[in-house]
Amino acid sequence: MNHSSQLGQLFEGPRYLAAFGPKRVPHCFTDVLILGGGLAGLRAALAVDSRLSVTVVTKDDLQSSSSQWAQGGIASVVDPEDRFDNHVADTLAAGGGLCHEDVVDAVVREAPSRIAELIAWGTRFDSHNGSLELGREGGHSHHRIVHALGDATGREVMRAVIGQARALENLEVWPETFTIDLVTHEGICRGALVWNPRHGKTLVWARRTILATGGAGQLYRESTNPPGASGDGMALAWRAGAELRDMEFMQFHPTVLYIAGGTRSLITEAVRGAGAWLVDRDGRRFMPEFDERAELAPRDVVARAITVVMHRTHHASVYLDLSHLDAAMVRRRFPGMAEICAKFGLDLAQDRIPVRPGAHSMIGGATIDAGGRTTIPGLFAAGEVTSSGLHGANRLASNSLLEGLVYGARAGEAASVEILAESGGTVADGEEFLVPAISNPRAVAGQGDGAEPHGILDLADIHNSLRALMWRHVGVEREGESLAEALETVEGWCRYVLPRQFAEPQGWQLQNMLEVARLMIQGAVVRCETRGVHFRSDFPEASPDWLAHIGWRRGQAEPRIERIVQTTRPAAES
Ligand SMILES: Cc1cc2nc3c(=O)[nH]c(=O)nc-3n(C[C@H](O)[C@H](O)[C@H](O)COP(=O)(O)OP(=O)(O)OC[C@H]3O[C@@H](n4cnc5c(N)ncnc54)[C@H](O)[C@@H]3O)c2cc1C
Repeated sequence: MNHSSQLGQLFEGPRYLAAFGPKRVPHCFTDVLILGGGLAGLRAALAVDSRLSVTVVTKDDLQSSSSQWAQGGIASVVDPEDRFDNHVADTLAAGGGLCHEDVVDAVVREAPSRIAELIAWGTRFDSHNGSLELGREGGHSHHRIVHALGDATGREVMRAVIGQARALENLEVWPETFTIDLVTHEGICRGALVWNPRHGKTLVWARRTILATGGAGQLYRESTNPPGASGDGMALAWRAGAELRDMEFMQFHPTVLYIAGGTRSLITEAVRGAGAWLVDRDGRRFMPEFDERAELAPRDVVARAITVVMHRTHHASVYLDLSHLDAAMVRRRFPGMAEICAKFGLDLAQDRIPVRPGAHSMIGGATIDAGGRTTIPGLFAAGEVTSSGLHGANRLASNSLLEGLVYGARAGEAASVEILAESGGTVADGEEFLVPAISNPRAVAGQGDGAEPHGILDLADIHNSLRALMWRHVGVEREGESLAEALETVEGWCRYVLPRQFAEPQGWQLQNMLEVARLMIQGAVVRCETRGVHFRSDFPEASPDWLAHIGWRRGQAEPRIERIVQTTRPAAES
């Protein structure tokens, strides 16, 4: 099938978002440049050889990542009754046929040592009588989720990891620094162009760059993600020429607190793991009607069932009901969530809590290999910005932090090995970098930085319209005509927003969101089937023709279709 005819002629934006005359901006040098200070980025920093210098750039502070917001925990086979094969089988079952079995197997086997390492670095996971307390979440056949502070695992893990990273003598962190673009020369990544309010634009030259910029949940009006999750890293990788894969797969978390005017707080799966029911506006429990695993079915199944029930009952939400559980246990186990509910006059243990789905975890991203290498030499990636083969068409709950830990470590190690191999194992401090002549058609020869006043362009309006459009047309349920309409609208916005030059992050971020949205819609248009989190109401079944990844590269109209060879594994024991 010729997919470019399905998509039409799409506008190709500029290679670099901003002008940078190399003679007019400050230059900095580092061995390893890490873009992103969430769990994946910091774990990568901790894996870099201590002889090499590391610079971590983050667009906010180290407290604002999705990693900090993670609640439920990290999946790992810890219980002697559990087995690696069970965790593998659960991950493969959730992944709808698109997981890479070798990747899943290796990550699952690495999990216990990554947890042990976090404990050694001072993470205090919840425990009872000296043993780790293990939660159970949707799609898991066993109790295997280690958690901390009840439902604030990310905060505790990041406290320990940030402490560990801060102690590194070879590490520098640049907070409040926005990465505008990766810099490439002759197809090799050589660092990045970054901006902060103190120094303006700076060219950071690096021997290796690791992209760890997280997800893209902010492309949707309803989202669990922090404000920074705007898909920047995917757009950076895209403009630099890396392959992005499976961009149509955005996971919607089924239970996001839905109170008008309130924050869209995620209500962790662990609440359902502890026995909470989902009920409709009339108090009727509905999940057993959709799946035999009821509330513990994988997220895509639960999100879709909630959407059906919301339509059926003409109501803006469904409800979580914990009133049949022990109230003291509920308040002890979920203190953070109880506090948020209390702010809106709701008692988590007694009242029905209004919830609906929201964009949660990006599954597609920069294609990486087992060592975290992207398709561009010199550029590694780890965490939610990637497509590693672990998640397939759906993320299993609590496998995401694990992925960041495993691939962060691998990327940091592999980058170090490459640098040390190139330099014969002796990278001298202050050793000169050869700075290549970068060809940027936007390089400024004259005055100013090339930015144009955005005058009549109301960036906030386009931003809000994009998020509303993605929610309406590219949400839990998709359909061909409505996707085509969404593509046409976003394409129109791309045509007049992408060529502009902005002077600050609000504009660059919007440009990134538009490029990523377009790729997500393209993927959803092309994938004429239902698989994992991608539900097409006009193609409601999975098709064997689409047991494949869809890979996109800038400048290539046709996607790369990568077929998956499936093997059969035994089902998990429950
Ligand atoms: C509310 C919530 C709860 C979750 N609960 C769980 C859970 O219980 N278990 C689980 O496994 N997963 C959970 N997840 C998912 C998990 O937290 C994420 O997938 C994971 O933390 C991603 O880690 P990361 O390091 O890849 O990205 P992040 O932690 O999001 O870090 C991204 C970093 O990149 C930086 N950045 C982004 N763009 C730029 C730019 N242009 N320039 C410079 N810096 C940039 C950001 O500032 C940030 O420092 C949850 C997610 C959310 C939102």
